[in-house]
Amino acid sequence: MSELAALNASFWPFWLWLVFASLLGLVIGSFLNVVIYRLPLMLRRSWGETQLPELSLSWPASHCPACLTHVSWYHNLPVISWLLLKGKCASCKTPISRLYPGVELAAGCLALMIAWRYGASLQSLAFMGLAFTLLALAVIDAQTRLLPDFLTLPLVWAGLTFHWWFSSPELFNQAFVGALLGYLSLWSLYWVFKLLTGREGMGYGDFKLLAALGAWLGAPALVPIVLLASLSGLVAALLLKLGKRWQGQALPFGPHLILGGLALLLGGWELAQTLRLGSWLLVTGWAFPG
Ligand SMILES: [Zn+2]
Repeated sequence: MSELAALNASFWPFWLWLVFASLLGLVIGSFLNVVIYRLPLMLRRSWGETQLPELSLSWPASHCPACLTHVSWYHNLPVISWLLLKGKCASCKTPISRLYPGVELAAGCLALMIAWRYGASLQSLAFMGLAFTLLALAVIDAQTRLLPDFLTLPLVWAGLTFHWWFSSPELFNQAFVGALLGYLSLWSLYWVFKLLTGREGMGYGDFKLLAALGAWLGAPALVPIVLLASLSGLVAALLLKLGKRWQGQALPFGPHLILGGLALLLGGWELAQTLRLGSWLLVTGWAFPG
């Protein structure tokens, strides 16, 4: 645990902290489902698709998209309700996507792993906020090929603010350079690719996302993140091709960048060492805790 620990560690038995973090993750996962479903619809409506229903993140209350029945609180418990209802709406029996309990479980697991790694600390809570936002962004990008500014830009500022207030000046500098380089590296790649091939390989959302990852994890982490993302993107493309589910369409890169970022957040130095990237981080003086 780091010197940043602001919550009283001896007050929390470690197992209770882990249980608290997992439950927090499950409950926030349930809210992430609302963001994942509604934010792209809200954006498309604001871009002129006025036939879409008027929504906000808090209104209307949860309802079944098929029969519009209001979902009562006891049918809205993370994962458990989905299992009890056998994945169907309580009133009209329309199947409810497995994605809902999947996102809740993923948020619970991420919170648990962060709580385990970073202990009962303010730092842990901040990293959980980062991981939850990244999870929502990954699913939104996979489904809609959008990385909304509404999520990516606050994530950049939150990372810089967090390191400004709570980290060493060294890490803040790396975060600041990380945000700039994260944006500019993909921006340059985008233009080189566009000038050479006349096609767009990425979107501006990807630049802002990598800026956010740089702001949280520091400039030296960008190289491992992009390497992991490219590897994961390559594997995904191969799998899609083998499964004959790929017809040459551009694939979203955001989920892979996020996978790389989360891997480094959770794996830190040990992971970099295993991937033979430890010396890169050593040479660049990576100041990230872990
Ligand atoms: Zn229904």
